[in-house]
Amino acid sequence: MDSINKVLPEAYRQFGIDEDIIKLSDEILSACSERFALIDKISEINQLKVLDAFRKNNVSEACLLGTSGYGYGDIGRDTLEKVYATVFKTEDALVRPQITCGTHALSLALSSNLLPGDELLSPVGKPYDTLEEVIGIRDSVGSLKEYGVTYRQVELLEGDRFDYEGIKNAVNEKTKLVTIQRSKGYQTRKSFSVKEIADLIKFVKEVKPSVKVMVDNCYGEFTDVCEPSEFGADMTVGSLIKNPGGGLAPIGGYIAGSKECIERASYRLTSPGLGREVGASLDVLKNLYQGLFLAPTVTASALKGAVFAAGIYEKLGFDCVPSFNGERNDIIQAVSFHDPQKLIAFCEAIQAASPVDSNVRPEPWDMPGYDSKVIMAAGTFVSGASIELSADGPLREPYAAYFQGGITWPHVKIGILNTVQALKNKGLI
Ligand SMILES: *Cc1c(COP(=O)(O)O)cnc(C)c1O
Repeated sequence: MDSINKVLPEAYRQFGIDEDIIKLSDEILSACSERFALIDKISEINQLKVLDAFRKNNVSEACLLGTSGYGYGDIGRDTLEKVYATVFKTEDALVRPQITCGTHALSLALSSNLLPGDELLSPVGKPYDTLEEVIGIRDSVGSLKEYGVTYRQVELLEGDRFDYEGIKNAVNEKTKLVTIQRSKGYQTRKSFSVKEIADLIKFVKEVKPSVKVMVDNCYGEFTDVCEPSEFGADMTVGSLIKNPGGGLAPIGGYIAGSKECIERASYRLTSPGLGREVGASLDVLKNLYQGLFLAPTVTASALKGAVFAAGIYEKLGFDCVPSFNGERNDIIQAVSFHDPQKLIAFCEAIQAASPVDSNVRPEPWDMPGYDSKVIMAAGTFVSGASIELSADGPLREPYAAYFQGGITWPHVKIGILNTVQALKNKGLI
């Protein structure tokens, strides 16, 4: 034991991490133990939930094999959708490699359940950047706006509280669907708890019982012991290259929800008349199953990394959302640098501590779907997967790095320490 305690700092020194940074790390780590114990318990409860869903739906070896062509009678695909429905406690689910990413899953859920003349309402302020073009907040070819779907949003009140009065006033005879984003995305608001989302869903359904609610669950899955789908959301939507893919899913998105909403989404995804009966799963099923199985522990690793990062960067004097002691409802850690140089150095150091493309230097670029330059660091096995150690940030005030992921906790820790070292080397801290 004694010798191990000497080997670890020595291994860090060889990696290029200075002794004072290791000391800081040890100090923060000892303050993390209570938080980490809670994260481990949540992960264990979710592991039970996921395993139970595999057993209940009789996941068999045959389910891991894929199909090609039309994909009629794809037992692995159909069973995976049942497993997701069980995990999310919904009537049904659509989980497919043909859903290319989170934005696509959200766009699919919206466009299939909104018709010309309907109105979409966001009661939680501006949605995620890429949704702006889906909705038509920024004019875009193929947006909901082009199809005659209008949009309204109600801003959050101070302290990120819901403006219940404003929401009530915004609901009208055209309001068909309400979209609630769980995670903060590229904003410095807090992320909402499942409990807060449950209260909001209850409220909007009281105001207008026929309204449907969609929750953008990206980055939120398995950070709590329950999901928004258990509290009246008609559709809960996310990306498989984030939490529920467990780092193994190479592509995909999911929508878990009511039979009616899922059916509409399936006809929109493929074709009226065909719906969910087509869509070959090719060779991805084993990774989608195994990824979901690993997702509770992978999410826990990412959460630990986020807590640790907040501890370190608060100690260094930077504003962190959530704070070290703050409630966590997703895996994202925002650190505001108020300085482009620091943001860039942070992202470069995450890239340099990645298992793939560690020698690549990330540069700010005009990413499709985003309205300012974005720098992204992701030296990942699955290209761009943000459940793996990654960081990104738009080049605009407050020059915040949005840091997330890490499929193993030691890797996140190493990544964070590498960012501190890089800032120190450049004289930025
Ligand atoms: C990542 C994310 C999306 C979009 O997912 P992509 O897979 O990047 O298209 C949407 N909403 C939120 C809150 C997200 O975090």
